[in-house]
Amino acid sequence: NREWHLLSRPVGWPKPEDFALVEAEVPTPGEGQVLVRNKYLSVDPYMRGRMSAAKSYVAPFELGKVMQGGAVGEVVESNAEGIAVGDHVLHFFGWREYAAVDAKHAVKVDADAAPLSTYLGVLGMTGLTAYAGLLRTAAFKEGDAVFVSGAAGAVGSQVGQIARLKGASRVIGSAGSDEKVKLLVEEYGFDAAFNYKNGPVSGQLREAAPDGVDVYFDNVGGDHLEAAIGSLNQGGRIAVCGMISVYNNTEPAPGPRNLARLIQTRGRIEGFLVGDHYDLQPQFVQEVGPWVASGQLKYRETVVEGIENNLEAFLGVLRGDNTGKMIVKL
Ligand code: NDP
Repeated sequence: NREWHLLSRPVGWPKPEDFALVEAEVPTPGEGQVLVRNKYLSVDPYMRGRMSAAKSYVAPFELGKVMQGGAVGEVVESNAEGIAVGDHVLHFFGWREYAAVDAKHAVKVDADAAPLSTYLGVLGMTGLTAYAGLLRTAAFKEGDAVFVSGAAGAVGSQVGQIARLKGASRVIGSAGSDEKVKLLVEEYGFDAAFNYKNGPVSGQLREAAPDGVDVYFDNVGGDHLEAAIGSLNQGGRIAVCGMISVYNNTEPAPGPRNLARLIQTRGRIEGFLVGDHYDLQPQFVQEVGPWVASGQLKYRETVVEGIENNLEAFLGVLRGDNTGKMIVKL
């Protein structure tokens, strides 16, 4: 049983020396617990926050201890009623091969209904983030022009497609490579997309959204947020989901210089956490599940194999190596 420990708190970009892959005993499940052999591990940008000591909405990872994260695996031993050997469960003890999990913290998932990895992505946490952030926080309505950054990633690609399927007047996305931009327009049905590395975001956004944007779904922060405020229409809404451009900063990033535009546009900026919106999960699965099954909503996964590559996969998400959800397959 190998597991990843955090050894020291990264300053700036995490370095391999901040982590160790450690050989540990296979845990023995206690009463009410199941032993899970993990099959798919999630790596997500928010994990960078947990590597720091700063107070946040989830506790920092403990130094010298195994890290955590979403995972799906097969039950190989069960001391819990209602979960049998052979069942598959979604739980929160990733970054390791085997986990002893309290039955109350394990959610059974159906391996026949959808590929297991999708419970970490398009039908899982990142999918619900897209759904809740767009529909609830940004209060999307038919006819809105929607701009989303990080648009080729797990959350962003789903935001754009849900907006399209729900009648957006225009869907605009930004991403960090020309291949990703092509995918957005040709496969995901975005009306326009641009590579933020090709020039200032504000100019590229104005060109892609000549009539402005009603909703901006922010995954990136920084220049993207300032550009979106600059293109915001009357009554525009900005849902702040993430700000990946600043996660490795060692100094606070400057704020948008054009916040005064919120006055004239009566604009609203609101942050949200997916954890507050699990009441939407049944509605999300009911509405988005069939779109995924029918192919109306497309998704990609970037799959990295092996527990030994768990860290590289995580760093890859921060670098933009992934298209769609980054998954580690064991
Ligand atoms: P993604 O699959 O979108 O992967 C992250 C992507 O961010 C990379 O692929 C990369 O793509 C892009 N990126 C990295 N650095 C930069 C940069 N400096 N500027 C612009 N883009 C950059 O991850 P997720 O879909 O899991 O998460 C997307 C965002 O949502 C993150 O900010 C995350 O923290 C946030 N989040 C928030 C939640 C909440 O509850 N509020 C829940 C889940 C996620 P590229 O090649 O395009 O640069």
